[in-house]
Amino acid sequence: MEKAGIEIIPELKIKYPEYSVITPITKKEFTLRGLKVSEEEAFKSSLITKNKINEHINESLFSVLVKKPDDIKTFQDFLKRTTVRDRDALFFGLYHATYKDIHGYEITCKECDFSNSVKVNFVNSFSMTMWDKEKINKETKQKEEINPLEYKVEVPLQIAENITFVLGIVTLFEEQEIMKTLTFTDDQTRAIYYEELSIKHILINIEGQKTPDKISDRRNIHTIYLSLPAADKKLIDKKLKEEFEKYGSFVKTMINCQKCGAQSTVDIDLIKEFFRALYE
Ligand SMILES: [Zn+2]
Repeated sequence: MEKAGIEIIPELKIKYPEYSVITPITKKEFTLRGLKVSEEEAFKSSLITKNKINEHINESLFSVLVKKPDDIKTFQDFLKRTTVRDRDALFFGLYHATYKDIHGYEITCKECDFSNSVKVNFVNSFSMTMWDKEKINKETKQKEEINPLEYKVEVPLQIAENITFVLGIVTLFEEQEIMKTLTFTDDQTRAIYYEELSIKHILINIEGQKTPDKISDRRNIHTIYLSLPAADKKLIDKKLKEEFEKYGSFVKTMINCQKCGAQSTVDIDLIKEFFRALYE
């Protein structure tokens, strides 16, 4: 089209591929569309600043949502009412809507370290375990689902016997907050703080005091966590595994090593694969 000698782009009627996802923890339905080239490019630049990757991923996911559940209107709602494990499932949807179903992977054999080039059918390798914790409602005597965002588990420690850890599910908001405060920290410290996000608070029993002291400041939690006896940390890990880690979305595939023949099941990290796909 031309107007007064200037070329004008007509309205582009592009129908972007869409994909619907029900999140495994909060069980909400989202529909998202595949990325545009400009958005793909923006992802590449987010790789430069590590502590901003999460924030950028959250913003990008929110911007490609074409349908959201009723209680999620603003970006803040999205951060506070979506868990990190729900995001994995949304990420799967974004990956699926943007790229093809079958992807090539380099998978390292656990036995001999040989790097195998394999093709994985993404959709067939995907599985999800939905949140299913229930409680009995005292008034109605009926079973009802426990709100995952409110669910807390207490872990009384054995060696540090006056200390109880209280664990819960991690939201995008909590994750983003911790990343913001750790701007100038090294990778290792950031990884430990990240690991500690499932700790909601710590209760410390003080002799002669009726109620325990409650520690909620992330820095204080960090200090206590680092001074725990190693065996007590194992108790916490075990509880996290039993109570939370089984829920979520997973991409698993079987490989037969081309060099030594060993067969193994491999977990595919969606976010890592996504960033790899950007450069293919
Ligand atoms: Zn091998």
